[in-house]
Amino acid sequence: MQYVPWRNVNSWQCKACGYCCKLYSVVLNFGEYLRLTQTYGQGAAESDLSRFYIKRHSNGDCAFLGCKSLKYYCGLQATKPEACKIWPFKVAAEPKYGDEDLAAFNYDGKEVYIYVDNMCSGVRYGKPTWEFQNQTIKEFVEIALGTREFQHHATGRIGFEWRK
Ligand code: SF4
Ligand code: SF4
Repeated sequence: MQYVPWRNVNSWQCKACGYCCKLYSVVLNFGEYLRLTQTYGQGAAESDLSRFYIKRHSNGDCAFLGCKSLKYYCGLQATKPEACKIWPFKVAAEPKYGDEDLAAFNYDGKEVYIYVDNMCSGVRYGKPTWEFQNQTIKEFVEIALGTREFQHHATGRIGFEWRK
């Protein structure tokens, strides 16, 4: 994987390929772990000695990943963990992946550094569009800063119902 600074990205839209939900273990904070297990039961999460994770099937898929007509989608939607809400973006207080000038983003007078993981097939490279800069990126920053929960521009568009 490689992190690309946001100024080299034209736009982003989830293609519902499901890749991220098949490849990665999703770490839950304690509040997310409690909410998830209270709603869906203990089987919705797993843990090791130091962390809580969302349950994965034996093939590696997240237990909440659904598929319809070859499109993958999240069964948790608005209540998905923050790690999922932020993917494939990284919002950092420092330019930790380099390209400081290209990664810098001014949010309400505060400088943050934004990168996108090039493993995501929804990334289109080029000069940022107005919508990407002022709506999509802004939403990811607000989620990372904890000032927003609802996603509109920063998520896929398809939903399905979780069944135990
Ligand atoms: S966020 Fe990216 S990798 Fe994940 S399902 Fe959407 S397009 Fe695929
Ligand atoms: S909770 Fe949703 S977005 Fe997160 S890995 Fe599972 S299916 Fe994907």
